[in-house]
Amino acid sequence: MSLPTPRPDLIELEGYHSPQLDVQVRLNTNESPYAPPAAFVDAWLDALRAVPLHRYPDRAAGDLRRALATRLDQPAERVFCANGSNEVLQTLLLAYGGAKRRALVFEPTYPLHTHIARLTGTEVIVGERTSEYRVSTTEAGILIAAERPAVVLLCSPNNPTGTVEPRATVEALLAAILDHGPGLLIVDEAYGEFADWSALELVADDVPLVVTRTYSKVWSLAALRLGFAVAPPAIVAELEKVVLPYHLSVATQIAGREALRFDPEMRSRVDVLVSERERLAHELALLPGLMVMPSGANFLLVRVDGDAHAIWRRLVDHGVLVRDFSRWPRLEGCLRITVGTPEEDDLLLAALRGVLEEER
Ligand SMILES: *Cc1c(COP(=O)(O)O)cnc(C)c1O
Repeated sequence: MSLPTPRPDLIELEGYHSPQLDVQVRLNTNESPYAPPAAFVDAWLDALRAVPLHRYPDRAAGDLRRALATRLDQPAERVFCANGSNEVLQTLLLAYGGAKRRALVFEPTYPLHTHIARLTGTEVIVGERTSEYRVSTTEAGILIAAERPAVVLLCSPNNPTGTVEPRATVEALLAAILDHGPGLLIVDEAYGEFADWSALELVADDVPLVVTRTYSKVWSLAALRLGFAVAPPAIVAELEKVVLPYHLSVATQIAGREALRFDPEMRSRVDVLVSERERLAHELALLPGLMVMPSGANFLLVRVDGDAHAIWRRLVDHGVLVRDFSRWPRLEGCLRITVGTPEEDDLLLAALRGVLEEER
């Protein structure tokens, strides 16, 4: 064999897979079911046409950061933008994780946290969530004291369970980190707009807290790849050192800025999806043998009584794709369903009723 082998710690890593199938109703990847407003697309393309494309983009993404800061009521120095919140997380772990450092995650949670930590050479420590998928502050405190992680990753609302951690949990984690640190708490709020509170209100210049968010979900812009962090300015400065120069294309920067002009539309979509989530949760709970976890996001985790993988496959036969988590540790029997349009959700409900009937 003449080809070299990669880093030994990468050999056992598996790539990140989220199966895509060509079906009528796709409720498997938590995107918005609605395309962005046509007026946004026009504004974005008009602005893009005026840009000198032979020049590098604004390296600091100044306009975008200022616009975001205004909307979030934060100073611009606290805002860092990258290609999706996954790149934000990778940059954070490159800067604050790495060799001989540990990252603490609470399973079951977003698998990319572990994946990105390992890619950056950071050792992963696993804390367990309770049977209700909450983070126990007592257990977390014990782990933080014993392992002294450089980074603690908290996903809230948690993917794939939908669990929203209360403010008291975030404060308790911060207190444990301050007692046993130094360390950094990263709250991944990819679904933060759907929840009833946000850790953004706890961000301050001298608190080791970073909140990450994305345009991929509520802003209907998953294809454009834009995410951001709100963090103390000293941390933002470190992230700027780590990220590659000109990583954020001008098309992405302009999209992020123009999208903010459609804030009222975005907010009304959040309201629509939240009330549709509640309707779907109610309808699902009426189905036999089905348990629905409470969710503060745009998806619902359900536990089925029976062979969840078989049910998932039968749903695909009916043209409905959800995400099968049933073979994941701590998620036996679980499927995750993204909230779609009312029409899509009705097709899911009809298909699921049929499949559950056949299963009996
Ligand atoms: C979807 C999702 C993201 C978003 O990733 P992008 O790179 O911004 O598309 C981040 N964290 C969680 C938990 C997610 O579910």
